[in-house]
Amino acid sequence: MDKKENCGLFGIYGDPDSAEKTFFALHSLQHRGQESAGIATSNGDTVILHTGMGHVSRVFRSGQTVLNQLRNKMAIGHVRYSTSGSWNLANAQPLLSEYSRGQVAVAHNGNLINASLLRDEYEAYGNIFKSTNDTEIIIHLLAKPSHVSKPDPLGHVLNHLQGAYSLLFLFADRIEAARDPFGIRPLCIGKTKKGAWCVASETCALDTIEADYVRDVEPGEIITLSEKGFESRRFVKPENIRPAHCIFEHVYFAKQSSTIFGENVHEFRKRLGAQIAKEHPVDADVVVPVPDSGTSSAIGYSRQSGIPFDMGFIRSHYIGRTFISPRQDMRDLAVKLKLAVVKEVVKGKRVIVVDDSIVRGTTTKGKISALRRAGAKEVHMRVSCPPIRHPCFYGVDFPTKEELLANGRDMQQIKEFLDVDSIGYLSLEGMLSCASLPKEHYCTACWSGTYPIPIQTIVNKFTMERYQMQLFEDDSVQM
Ligand code: SF4
Repeated sequence: MDKKENCGLFGIYGDPDSAEKTFFALHSLQHRGQESAGIATSNGDTVILHTGMGHVSRVFRSGQTVLNQLRNKMAIGHVRYSTSGSWNLANAQPLLSEYSRGQVAVAHNGNLINASLLRDEYEAYGNIFKSTNDTEIIIHLLAKPSHVSKPDPLGHVLNHLQGAYSLLFLFADRIEAARDPFGIRPLCIGKTKKGAWCVASETCALDTIEADYVRDVEPGEIITLSEKGFESRRFVKPENIRPAHCIFEHVYFAKQSSTIFGENVHEFRKRLGAQIAKEHPVDADVVVPVPDSGTSSAIGYSRQSGIPFDMGFIRSHYIGRTFISPRQDMRDLAVKLKLAVVKEVVKGKRVIVVDDSIVRGTTTKGKISALRRAGAKEVHMRVSCPPIRHPCFYGVDFPTKEELLANGRDMQQIKEFLDVDSIGYLSLEGMLSCASLPKEHYCTACWSGTYPIPIQTIVNKFTMERYQMQLFEDDSVQM
């Protein structure tokens, strides 16, 4: 079963070119997932689907031919990212199924922590699953006769789910979008000039198709896009809404041009960079980012410190983000291809390198040694988030605890491992001070060990297989 997806979603209702619009929107969300992509569309009676492995441009490489076949007035699309072992077409989304109420296609961003328990229960009653995807349990829940007969079957089903979920459903006659009561993953609503409603993981997808941002889907809200227009309802009581937005979306995942959780990612990252310059100043000649996700923070660091900003690394745009490649050997190869050092910028200089985060540290070490080979006199590492020490159960694939650089190492050991002249991580308080929402509105569990959904309720056995030893050995995890 999958335990790690941070995917991208897009849906549009009321546009005859919905498939093309979804194709372009998925392109703009490609940074959220590169393993597979898919688009499902409906003409009001029948839902059809096209999925494939790889980037959006590869899955739809025949271009207009496939998109013409998908041409309908409503569509949902998905880009997916996942671990090794689950890299197969059966797990590509949207997932399309047929049950007693007709067809439904589902696209999911997040991680259902009780999916395995539910699946065991349903399999015990003879249900057959087509994929190893945690999302598929939602279809089985929808199809259960006692759920179908409820006044709001979808709202009823969502109340069975635990974990992080931003979801899109394409029924033959409508799109429904929902967000978990913690609002862990982003999901926003937009509208085109011609009046078509859209839903997207990030506002960059709305910008791409020239739709205007309307508002976010609220935690615990379902919105319906249909012939009746836009409708909203709640599936949890207001007192059970507890926002815990993933702040790592701001630090790393989301695109700089996007606005998520109420603020622009680029501006947020610049504040992170300025804050780390206040917390960890150092004399140096140049500030260089690890592009692209470290660029905004490096600008903030440079402005706050007065040390010139320059591009010491040039990123190849023809290879994907290394962090979301499923295999270590692929990540190692990709990082060599991805970043080229500009010797003239760093030779003989005292260099401050700003990166958004350090996970394993192996790729960071490679970047440091490349700077030294290019003649950097000193290398000072600055990281625009705190040390990552805990697993994520809500949809981001960190490696096992043993693989995390900051696990069991103090700052001196990290400095020696990376071979840097100094190391400075942003403090948790400093990171939260850069956010406009109250600090209680964010999940910071991978840094703090404080999980917004209590760990006792995390019953995904596949997740637990991976992490149970770490959790029970770790006193700092808050339950
Ligand atoms: S544990 Fe970290 S990555 Fe996971 S949802 Fe919380 S803040 Fe985001």
